[in-house]
Amino acid sequence: MHENVEIIEVSPRDGLQNEPEIISTANKIALINSALDLGIKRIEVASFVNPKRVPQMANAEDVISGLDFARAATYIGLVLNGRGAERALQTKVHELGAVACASDGFAMRNQGQTSIESAHIAANIVKMAQSAGRTGQVTISTAFGCPFDGPTDPAHVVEIVKILAAAKPREIALADTIGVAVPAQVSALIEMVKPHLGDIPLRAHFHNTRNTGIANAWAAYSSGVRILDSSLGGLGGCPFAPKATGNIPTEDLAYMLFKSGVDIGLDMEKLVETGLWLEGIMGKKLPAMLPHAGMY
Ligand code: ZN
Repeated sequence: MHENVEIIEVSPRDGLQNEPEIISTANKIALINSALDLGIKRIEVASFVNPKRVPQMANAEDVISGLDFARAATYIGLVLNGRGAERALQTKVHELGAVACASDGFAMRNQGQTSIESAHIAANIVKMAQSAGRTGQVTISTAFGCPFDGPTDPAHVVEIVKILAAAKPREIALADTIGVAVPAQVSALIEMVKPHLGDIPLRAHFHNTRNTGIANAWAAYSSGVRILDSSLGGLGGCPFAPKATGNIPTEDLAYMLFKSGVDIGLDMEKLVETGLWLEGIMGKKLPAMLPHAGMY
C-alpha cells in the first residue's frame, strides 16, 4: 500500500513571483481559493520580501486580508529575514516559511550573508513563529546546485540541516532552486540528511528547468518524502536565479502520484479545469501538460 502525500501549492508565491505582469490581488485570491477547492490543504500565499526587489509580492498583506480563514487550510507566508517575519506576524498567516541557503554564492549575492548565517537567521524565524503561536518551517535553497558556485557539497547541506533541526521546525525542505538535480542525486542527498532530522519531516521542492523535476519528485517519494511542493500550471522561476524556470506542475505531479495509487486527496477532473482556467488568467500557455492531454 502507498502512503498519503501532501502536496503544498506554491503557485501564488513561487509561481507568480517571477511573472513580469503584476497579477491583481483579486486574481491571487481566486487562485488560492481554486487550489483549496481542489483539495489543497497547505498553500504558500505570499512572501514578505522587499517590494522593490520582488514587485509581484508587494500586495502580500492585501492578499492575506482577503483570504477566507474559516476554511480548513494552512496559509504560508514566505519570509527571508526578521523584518519580513515581523511583517508576516502582523497578518493572520498560519505558518512562516523561512529560507536557508546551501551555497555561499547565492546567500551572499541575494542576502549579503554566508550560507551558515542564512541558516541561523532561518532558525531564528522559526523561533519567532513558534513564540507567536504560529508554525515555522524552512526550505534549504540551492540544496543541489547554485547558479554562482556550481554543484552544492552534500556535506554542507548536512551542516545546514543540523543548525535548522535544532530549532524544531515543522519540516525541512530540500529545494532544487535552479532545476539541476537528477533522481540519483535526490535519493543520495535525502539518505545523507535523514539521520540528522530526528522526527522532523522532510519536504522536497523541485524546479523543472531541465525536465527532471517530476522524476526527482518520484525519487524523493521513493526515498520516503511525503510532502512535495508544486505549482499549478508549472508557473514559476526565481528572480534571483538566472535561467531557473517553473516549479514542477501540480497537475502533472498529481497525475503521476494518483495513477501510482498514492492518495493525494485532490479532485483530478477539477485539477484539469483549474489548469486551463489559470492559463486564461495568465494569458498564455503554461508548462503543465495534464490540462491539455486530459485525464486517462
Ligand atoms: Zn522554488
